[in-house]
Amino acid sequence: MTNNLVQKLTEIRQTIPPHVRLIAVTKTVPLDAMRMVYGEGIKDFAENKLQDAISKQEQLNDLSDICWHFIGHLQTNKAKKAVECFSWIHSVDSLKLAQKLDTYSQQALKEGLISRSTQICLQVKILPDENKYGWTVSQLQEDLEVLRSLNYVDIRGLMTILPLGLSSDEILATFQQVRDLQHRLKDYFPPNFDQLSMGMSNDYLLAIEAGATMVRLGTILFA
Ligand SMILES: *Cc1c(COP(=O)(O)O)cnc(C)c1O
Repeated sequence: MTNNLVQKLTEIRQTIPPHVRLIAVTKTVPLDAMRMVYGEGIKDFAENKLQDAISKQEQLNDLSDICWHFIGHLQTNKAKKAVECFSWIHSVDSLKLAQKLDTYSQQALKEGLISRSTQICLQVKILPDENKYGWTVSQLQEDLEVLRSLNYVDIRGLMTILPLGLSSDEILATFQQVRDLQHRLKDYFPPNFDQLSMGMSNDYLLAIEAGATMVRLGTILFA
């Protein structure tokens, strides 16, 4: 079982080019498995529930160079805690949340609780999907002015989760649309608006083909 995890990790890594960051999604993963992949050099861990993540962070606090990513829907009343506990928040899905994160990031910087601005991705949905959070393209257009005025969050790029039931062609085309949107938005944001967080176990190869810079993998690694 131990060797199995290491072997899976090795195989998956061979499919991921060096410029793409492998984020291990550990929301259902026990601590010993997390320690094992850490031992293999994985430093990026993603969680989708704040309380669970904080408890894991406490138990892994001897591994001081882990970079923690938040990927779940975040209620605005938890924005402060999220800023204090995560370097990256991929799932910023509303203007209100972005503004809260900006406020708390400023506060946490001032108080010395964090050493750099919170890095965030804007979650978009290219295809209509009632079950998912995020900006539609036209909503995002409306919020751009305010988003670019935020000074204490570092808006690094876009994140997306695709609806279920798409063909491979549709998956690739949709990821490419997200990439095209990110390219168009580059003019609005600082030069480090260069990230595309897209691709999960079932579709990460297509996401990489479309230009993903971060893939979020859970099942394929740990199940
Ligand atoms: C769970 C989750 C993942 C990982 O999904 P797998 O299919 O297990 O790889 C990626 N991104 C988000 C937002 C998730 O919630």
